[in-house]
Amino acid sequence: MGEVGCSARVQREAMAHDVAKDIAALVKGLATTFKHLGRPATTVQYPEEKRPVSPRYRGRHMLMRYEDGLERCIGCSLCAGACPSRAIYVEAAENTDGERHSPGERYARRYEINLIRCIFCGMCEEVCPTQAIVLGHDYELADYDRADFIYTKERLLVPQPTKGPTSPPTPSPTRGGGWVR
Ligand code: SF4
Ligand code: SF4
Repeated sequence: MGEVGCSARVQREAMAHDVAKDIAALVKGLATTFKHLGRPATTVQYPEEKRPVSPRYRGRHMLMRYEDGLERCIGCSLCAGACPSRAIYVEAAENTDGERHSPGERYARRYEINLIRCIFCGMCEEVCPTQAIVLGHDYELADYDRADFIYTKERLLVPQPTKGPTSPPTPSPTRGGGWVR
């Protein structure tokens, strides 16, 4: 009889301990709720409202131009070589005096990035000698068709500047027939 009474007491003490723990957790949770009651809501009404991304954010790529409208890309394929995902395809062609796309001898006739492969590491941007390929801040990349994830040059190239050059065109031709950047 003495042993049975002792076991019941131990059970009651354990139960009381559990109840006390539950009440403490409840009070802690409610304290967090009340702490936030008076604060303004932080819900962002996406997609109408967008939160700014970090300046270092690496989003969709852009192919840049110089101030005079010439394409920065010279079709050297360094970005394709450095890409760990083999996501870039570059096909270079010769510039001519009648049809000049970029300074120097060559430009990228075709430039494609497969964004399904891309891991947004930024290596292409790092190695580019002319700062032609830049990872921008666009993160809305969802699509329905696999083919639409191949970003062609036409999609990547930024528009022609609307204003004329504000400073001497960069790059400029040199007397030796080369270009300075
Ligand atoms: S983006 Fe830069 S690295 Fe890539 S082909 Fe063009 S110039 Fe070369
Ligand atoms: S960000 Fe990285 S993975 Fe994506 S294309 Fe550039 S080098 Fe390749």
